[in-house]
Amino acid sequence: MREQEIINSMNTALLDGQFIIYIQPKYDLSTKLPAGGEALVRWKLPDGSMNSPGEFIPVFEKNGFITKLDLYVWEEVCIIIRRWLDEGRKVSPISVNISRVDLYNPKLAETLIELTEKYNIPPRLFNLELTESAYIDNPAVISQTIMKLQQEGFVIMMDDFGSGYSSLNFLKDINVDVLKIDMKFLSNTAIPGRGESIIASVVRMAKWLDIPVIAEGVETKRQADFLHSIGCEYCQGYYFAKPMPVQEYEKLMEEENIVDVPDDKEAENKDRNSLWVLNPQLEFLFDSIPQAIAVYEFDGKNIELLRVNKNFEEVLGMETFYFKTNNLLSLCHDDYKEDLYSAFKKIVETQNDAECEYLRRKSDGSWRWIYCKLKYINKVGSERHAIFANLMDITAQKEMDRELRKYKLAAEADKYDKEGKNGTKTVMIVDDSMLGRAVIKDLFTGKYNILEACNGKDAFRVIEENNKKVDLILLDLVMPEMDGKEFLKRKNAIDEMADIPVIVITGENRTEEQIKLLEIGVSDYIIKPFIKEIVKKRVENVLISSSRKKRAGK
Ligand code: C2E
Ligand code: CA
Ligand code: CA
Repeated sequence: MREQEIINSMNTALLDGQFIIYIQPKYDLSTKLPAGGEALVRWKLPDGSMNSPGEFIPVFEKNGFITKLDLYVWEEVCIIIRRWLDEGRKVSPISVNISRVDLYNPKLAETLIELTEKYNIPPRLFNLELTESAYIDNPAVISQTIMKLQQEGFVIMMDDFGSGYSSLNFLKDINVDVLKIDMKFLSNTAIPGRGESIIASVVRMAKWLDIPVIAEGVETKRQADFLHSIGCEYCQGYYFAKPMPVQEYEKLMEEENIVDVPDDKEAENKDRNSLWVLNPQLEFLFDSIPQAIAVYEFDGKNIELLRVNKNFEEVLGMETFYFKTNNLLSLCHDDYKEDLYSAFKKIVETQNDAECEYLRRKSDGSWRWIYCKLKYINKVGSERHAIFANLMDITAQKEMDRELRKYKLAAEADKYDKEGKNGTKTVMIVDDSMLGRAVIKDLFTGKYNILEACNGKDAFRVIEENNKKVDLILLDLVMPEMDGKEFLKRKNAIDEMADIPVIVITGENRTEEQIKLLEIGVSDYIIKPFIKEIVKKRVENVLISSSRKKRAGK
C-alpha cells in the first residue's frame, strides 16, 4: 500500500474494525513458560490480506493518526483483559505500545488512568512500552509523565533499549521498570561477537540497577540459551511464538505448556558464528561439557563475567549475576585476590593455560573454594581479553583436608605430650673427657635420662645394658680405643641401632668436614666450644624430628 492509500483509507479502517489486536507471548527463560504478552496491531484489509505495521505505523506517526489508533488499541486491550477477568482466567500482564507522538499529549497519564478505571483493570496488568527516542524529544515532560504513571501502578517498559540515542542518560534520569532489548539491533555488528558482548553488558548493567530484561526478536534456540546464560530473564520472539490472534493466545495460556521448540537448523546455522567469540569447537564444548564453564573478560584490572554454561548454574547459581559488582576480584577473598589476578595476568601474557585456587563469596553469603583452569580465547578490542574458565567447587574437599590436618596435628601433639610425660627420653654422651661429659650432662639433668660412655667400645656396652633404648647419642669424634667415626660405622651397620640419631661434637668448623659428617648419617653437629642454648635447641630438635620420623614410618 502506498502512503497516500494508507492515508485515504485509515479512518474508514478504524471505524470498520479493520485494525485488530494480535498478541505475542513473552516467556520466562528459567521456567520456559509464557509470562504475559505484547499487543501488536494488525490491519486486516477487506480482501483478507494484511498490512504490515512496519508500513503504516511510520505514516500514522507522521500524520498524527497514531494517537487515535493507539487509543483504540489500548481500549481494545482493556476490553480483552476485562473479559478474561470476568471469565475467571488467570491473567498475565499485557503490554501496549505508546508512540512517541502520544507523549506530546499532556493528558496522556489521565487518559490511561481513566481507561483502566473505566474497565476496572488493575494497572499492573496493563504495561506500557515506551521508546527511548521519545525521551530525547522532551525529557522533562516525559519523566514527569512516567513518574505519574508509575505512582498509579503502571509498569513502564523501555522498548528497543540500546538501539541508539542516549540509553545511559535515560536510565540515569528515569526509573523504568523493565528494559527490552532487541536482538536485531545488536547481532549484526561488524565485529563478530561484539553484538553479544553489548547485549551481555546491557543485561549486566540492568542487573546492577535491579531492572529485569526482556530480549525480543529471539529467533533461535541458540540465542535463547545465550540470553539465559548471561542472566536475561525474559524472551520474546519467533523462536517461542509469533504474534497471534487473541483466541490463540488464550488457548496457549490455558495450556501453560513448557515450550521446548525443536531446533530450527537453518536459522541455527545462519548465526552459527555470530553468537559469541568462541570458535565452533569451543562453542560446542561450552554447551555440552558437564562442568561449570564461564567466559570472563579481563582488561588488566577487572575480571568480568560475560557468560556461563548450564552447569555453572548448579555450581555457583545464576545469582552470580545478581551481585551489584561484576568484578570477580571483588567477590574473591582478600587472601586470594593476588593469586587470582596473577593467574589472569599470566594467561594474557603467555596465552598458555593457567590455573588457580581461590575462595569466593556466593550471594547467599557463603564462601566457596573454587579451583579454576583458564584458557585463552582471544583479544577483544585493544585491551580486553576473553578467557575461558573451567570451575570446580572444591569446598567439600578443602574442608575435609582441613579437618584431616587438624586431626593429625591434634593427634601428634597428644602423642608428643604423652611421650614426654610417660617416658623421659634417654640421651647418651660419648666422650673421653669427663669434663666434656659433665658440662653437657649439666645442661640436661632433670630433663632427660643421661647415660655416659668414654669411647666407642664403651658406648656399645652401655647401649646393650639399656636394651638399646637410647633416643639420642651425643658423640665426640676423637677418642682412644674406638673413635667416633668407627663407632658410627659399626652402629649404623646394626639394624636395631641404625636409626638412633647422632649429634657429633667436634672442634672442626670447616664446612666441607661438616658436610662429610652429615653424609655419613649424622643428624646434626655441635661445634666446640659450644653455646649452651644452641646445644639444648639442637638436641631438642633432633629428638622431635626423630620421633616424627618413627611415627610416620609405622
Ligand atoms: P516493536 O514494538 O518493537 O514490536 C516488536 C516487533 O518485532 C513486532 O513487529 C513483532 O512482530 C516483531 N517480532 C517479534 N518477534 C520477532 C522475531 O523473532 N523476529 C523478527 N524479525 N521480528 C519479531 P510488528 O508487529 O510488525 O510491529 C512493528 C513495530 O510497529 C513495533 O515494534 C511497534 O513499534 C510498532 N507497533 C505495532 N503495533 C503498534 C501499536 O499498536 N501502537 C504503536 N504505537 N506501535 C505499534
Ligand atoms: Ca513494543
Ligand atoms: Ca521493540
